[in-house]
Amino acid sequence: MIQTQMDPKILSVLADKIQIIQNKQEFIYLVGPIKLPVNLYGETVSFNWYCWLKTKEAEEDYGRIIDKLSAYNLAELQQSSVLVYGDFESSDEALIRMHSICHTGDIFGSKRCDCGFQLKQSMKMIVEQGTGALFYLANHEGRGIGLFSKAMAYILQENGLDTVEANEALGFVDDSRDYSDAIAVLKALRSKPVTLITNNPKKLEALRASGLGVTGRQPLWGDKSEYNEKYLQTKVQRSGHLNDIEDDLHDES
Ligand SMILES: [Zn+2]
Repeated sequence: MIQTQMDPKILSVLADKIQIIQNKQEFIYLVGPIKLPVNLYGETVSFNWYCWLKTKEAEEDYGRIIDKLSAYNLAELQQSSVLVYGDFESSDEALIRMHSICHTGDIFGSKRCDCGFQLKQSMKMIVEQGTGALFYLANHEGRGIGLFSKAMAYILQENGLDTVEANEALGFVDDSRDYSDAIAVLKALRSKPVTLITNNPKKLEALRASGLGVTGRQPLWGDKSEYNEKYLQTKVQRSGHLNDIEDDLHDES
């Protein structure tokens, strides 16, 4: 084994917080827990934060992983992470949210979608329930088409296409999101059943197909406005989202 040049004290601090998860032919380095106090609707809430990196190689010498970090150019490739609340490993009940990154909604507070609202609201639901985890999935921008393509899709939407039509016009399938990495991380953190916060049956199926015990689903609708009404209707009418709000939407259309 090639010896790393790292200071052994630094290495031992970090090695305690890294685990390797094998997911089919790939490996996930999971780092955490890291204490993360979060401002949630004006109150400071303490979460435990984990971040992960997927690679094709299993490197058990953590010093060599760390030596290579600067060469990976990670800022050019956004990583996913998870915010954990409460006694996640042992508690009988836990609420899970698989949140797809949304640059415009989560960061800028765009009203064209409901992502920013769903992000904060699901964190609040998890804290109120007492135990849970919010997975923030970095390779899910624009249902998996990427930010630049999403910008083009928005132009098409301004010219009359709906979300599904716009993605398809650009040569993408409507929804190419994959949950296998997040599920592998979830299994590493908890083996007991979970309740999923979602309106999307595909997410429910992905978790169930993975063999995880999913006891149920909690819907998450809200923040409807004139700017995202068509987007929300498309989710129900074309993308198969469960229609908890369909009647409500029709009332105002
Ligand atoms: Zn969004």
